Amino acid sequence: MRWENLREDTESGQTALFDAPTTPRIRGTGGAGLVAPSPSPIRAGEPGAPVAIEIRARSIVNRVPGADPMFRWTINPYRGCAHACVYCFARRTHEYLDLDSGRDFDTRILVKVNAGELVRAQLARPSWRGEHIAMGTNTDPYQRAEGHYRLMPKIIAALSEAANPFSILTKGTLILRDLDLLERAAEVTDVGLAVSIGSIDARLWRTVEPGAPSPRARLDVVKRLTDRGLACSVLMAPILPGLTDSVEQIERTIAAIAEAGATRLTPVVLHLRPGAREWYRTWLEREHPRLIPLYRQLYGRGSYAPASYRNIVTEAVREVAARHGLDHPVNERGTEKPAHPAPNGRLPLDLPGPALRNRF
Ligand code: SF4
Repeated sequence: MRWENLREDTESGQTALFDAPTTPRIRGTGGAGLVAPSPSPIRAGEPGAPVAIEIRARSIVNRVPGADPMFRWTINPYRGCAHACVYCFARRTHEYLDLDSGRDFDTRILVKVNAGELVRAQLARPSWRGEHIAMGTNTDPYQRAEGHYRLMPKIIAALSEAANPFSILTKGTLILRDLDLLERAAEVTDVGLAVSIGSIDARLWRTVEPGAPSPRARLDVVKRLTDRGLACSVLMAPILPGLTDSVEQIERTIAAIAEAGATRLTPVVLHLRPGAREWYRTWLEREHPRLIPLYRQLYGRGSYAPASYRNIVTEAVREVAARHGLDHPVNERGTEKPAHPAPNGRLPLDLPGPALRNRF
């Protein structure tokens, strides 16, 4: 998906970074004038002051080859994300722009300032079939810069006018600014809204998602959307091994999500692709060094934790979600019942052997 986005930029004869005929403008996202990006020493999990790099993109509705129909077409008005989640799987996309996947991803935000007009133009093409468009698949459309640039109202308006189905996944409370627009859109087309809440642990949130609104604030977003009659699901992601995967934590998180009125819940266990992997490991070594052996076992073989672990977590979520009346996805393996929790409240792990150690 990310290569595809980049390819469109490059094939159009632009440099990898910019489609602007003029020098890109760099400014503080608060709009307080020009600010040169400075190499401040930012560590994993600590957001720096973000700067926006304004670009004029050539296309904005991008095709994701081989993706599920709901994610085949995407709109990402920003690249990079000041929510600065340590585990963010989109980090590597910044490397394709000659920026780094750590601090640069969190603080140098590319803003496609012509996103609204591009959406309108692309939807008006005779070749466009009116397929579903997903937003928030790569970076968060309601991150801090959106408060200044207000790209989403124009995008939502264009989608509404074309009665084009769309979905938004976000951690940003800024989505509430666009409630009226979303309500009007839902009158003419299918609108899917989802908020990402991996856990409600406020202490953990401050270090693992340091630029994002708190879990409580996100729960409030779910509540306010559903209060307005807009169905809102929750992506319970990522579930972090050793940090948010205990039975008690899962129970508390799901209870809060259910109370907020979410209509559906989808759990996703952490995956660590290159780019995110190095950044997350640095953070883990600093904040939770005791967990390094566990992560070596789980992620020593690759980006995904073993299916045995993922299925145990998914089934635990499924069971608790069912108890709270939440719609939930089926087990990755089908109908197998979950294993019983260990006496210490942690999920029982069927981990790969010691040969995988030292590779995380
Ligand atoms: S909000 Fe999403 S896109 Fe932004 S840093 Fe977090 S995981 Fe990445």
